[in-house]
This record gives sequence, structure tokens and C-alpha cells, in this order.
Amino acid sequence: MTAPFAAALLAWYDRAAADLPWRSSDPDPYTVWLSEIMLQQTQVATVIPYFHRFLAAFPTVRALADAPLDDVLKAWEGLGYYSRARNLHRAALVVAYDMGGQFPDTVEGLLALPGVGRYTAGAIASIAFGRRAPLVDGNVYRVFSRLMDEDGDVSTPAVQARMWAWAEDWVPADRPGDYNQALMELGRTVCTPKNPRCRDCPLNGLCRAFAAGTQAERPVKKKAGKKPHYEVAAGVVRGADGRLLIAQRPLEGLLGGLWEFPGGKQEPDETLTECLQRELLEELGIEVEVGEELCVVKHAFTHFSITLHAFDCRHTGGEPQAIQAHAWAWIDEGELDAYSFGKADREVINYLRGQSRRLL
Ligand code: SF4
Repeated sequence: MTAPFAAALLAWYDRAAADLPWRSSDPDPYTVWLSEIMLQQTQVATVIPYFHRFLAAFPTVRALADAPLDDVLKAWEGLGYYSRARNLHRAALVVAYDMGGQFPDTVEGLLALPGVGRYTAGAIASIAFGRRAPLVDGNVYRVFSRLMDEDGDVSTPAVQARMWAWAEDWVPADRPGDYNQALMELGRTVCTPKNPRCRDCPLNGLCRAFAAGTQAERPVKKKAGKKPHYEVAAGVVRGADGRLLIAQRPLEGLLGGLWEFPGGKQEPDETLTECLQRELLEELGIEVEVGEELCVVKHAFTHFSITLHAFDCRHTGGEPQAIQAHAWAWIDEGELDAYSFGKADREVINYLRGQSRRLL
């Protein structure tokens, strides 16, 4: 059963759709895939410049597959959730070399690619291939829970299953990709988390929450607990020749494959200096003399936050070894931009260059 609101939604989309660089009347599966991966957990305005730069660097799936992972991570630097970039590279290798350069055109085929889940498979199948494939993302959860005045907690599997069943039932055979994009765009621009613009909404005649006046209470979500916070020490380690020692994080896990000033989390009953000496020994097998604290950077990840304390360190012993790191390198300070770093380490680099104030 096509959504009773599909015609009104599509008519609104035809009038109001934003002109985004990945939208086209003849969509290319590569650019649709790339944009959908970039848009996961990330705002449209943030994605646009990355999308342009990424496509300039890797214009085809083959070019992406043939690029070293380090170059891909470098192009992704600052966009966050780096497992997306690693999976993008892995999936490009599969498409370019196992699939003859052709993306799968069904949800099932797309789900087999690294980094492609149910939402992304639905988006690519409907937008790039015109398949009648459903999708639900954060925007769609909000629109559906208001349209249906859903009072169950959207983080529960039962309510999520209901949302996916609506998505599946309602996606039309005609223009499924535009319909899916219209739903997400409505959630992004009209049915916003706070103060939805119901008077301007093309679906207000059918919206149960609008009729009941419960828009502000939908979707129902249980309150998230407080995120843990960690104190982290990092060493700006210099060798006798003044070069800097940087380490590459293990390829899997948080910020996997990115480079960093080595260090780690402070344990209870340990000073930051002791923490740094212990971490550098465990991670790289080196000894250092810890000097002055250079700067302090606060950074929030999805599930926790950190305060990173960067210290000037002098290398005093031990040849570096990649014990709890993927790799390490001695580099000149001028070479820092050739490596991909996470946001907090970038702040330390800005400090070293005198571009950010000392946050002590
Ligand atoms: Fe959202 Fe209001 Fe439209 Fe309902 S009428 S879908 S609450 S913007």
C-alpha cells in the first residue's frame, strides 16, 4: 500500500528539494553510495565540501580502490567516524575487483558490501537504481512517529520494527528514491526536532501528532545516561635531532588507522606524567623524559568525552616498536600535514604552530 501522503510529499519535494551536489536526474551509484556513507551521523552542510574534495581525489570507484588507505583517511580527516572511511575503501576494492566495477543493484547485494547496513542499502537501491526499497533514518523515525503519534520508545526493537514495516508498506513503486529523499528532507527542514513547522508541512492534514498537539513529545526516547569522561595524556616526543615521533593507531577500533601523538588514558592513582611514561612504554617500547604541559584539549566522542593533556617529551631510550600501534614514524614538524590525525590531535598541532591558544 503506497503511503496515503506520497503524492503530497513528492509534490512538496518537487517544489522545495535542496539542490545538493549528489542529487541528479541520472544518479551515479558511486556518488550516491559515497554521499550516503558521508551523511551517516553527519550534517549535510558538513558533508558538502568533503564530498567535492573526495570526488576530485577519487573520481571513480576504481580510483578509490587503487588509492592507499592512508590517502583515503587523509581525505576523510575531520569528518569523524573513521570506520566509515576504512569500510568505504574495502567496499571499493570489492566493487572494483570482484564485481567488475558495477555496484549491486538490489538491497540484498548491497548489504554484502562492507559498511552498508539496512538504511544505506535502501538508500542506494532506491535512489541509484529506482528499486522499491524502504529506509528509515533518524529523520524518518521522527516524521513517522509524529505522523502516527507513536507513543512507544523509538529505541526499542518493537517500535523500530513498526517503523520499518511502515517504510516497507508505504514506499511507492513510482519514484521510490525521491520519496525516500523527500521524507528525510522533510525531517531535516520542516519536521525538525524542535519547533517543527507544522503550518508549512505538506502532511499536516494527515498528521496525528499535529491533530493531537503532541508533536513536541514525539518521538519518545528514553534519556541517555551520562557519558564517561577520561583524562588522557599524549606525548609530543622529540628525538635528539628534533624530529617528532608519531604513531598510527591500530586499524580497527576508535579512530583506527589515524595518526596521533602517542599516549593514553590515565589510570586511577597515577599522575599524568606516570601515565604517559607507562603508555609510551606499552605502546611503542620507548622511555621518555616528560617536560612541560603544552596544551589541553577537550573532545567529545559519541559514547564518552576526553580531556587530552599534551606534554613536551624527550626521547631517552628504546628503539620504537609497533607494540600497541599499527606503525610509527619520526617526522619533521613540517611533515605533519601529510598524515591524517583526529580532531583532538589536530588541536595539538595547531597549538604547536601557534595557531591556537594554550588551553591550560
Ligand atoms: Fe511533522 Fe508537523 Fe508535519 Fe506532523 S504536521 S509531520 S509534526 S511537521
